[in-house]
Amino acid sequence: MCPFCLESVEDEIHVLFVCPVYADISLKYLGTVVIDETTLEQQCVSLLASEDNGALNLAKFVFCAGQRRQSHTAGVMATGI
Ligand SMILES: [Zn+2]
Repeated sequence: MCPFCLESVEDEIHVLFVCPVYADISLKYLGTVVIDETTLEQQCVSLLASEDNGALNLAKFVFCAGQRRQSHTAGVMATGI
């Protein structure tokens, strides 16, 4: 379960395209707003195969998402929730 939104399993699809906690950086680096979840895996493949810095932008997203996750986790631990 995603510890932030508590909406679904925290897998890579959720973090990349679905979770509202990462929505702003997802939009910034991946430029994608997903409506149809049945095409999520195909969108991941397309992103990685993109010649338009797809892998680089994905790496930037992962870096920023990791920092955000760490700060959220630290905040949760600090407040004792
Ligand atoms: Zn989430």
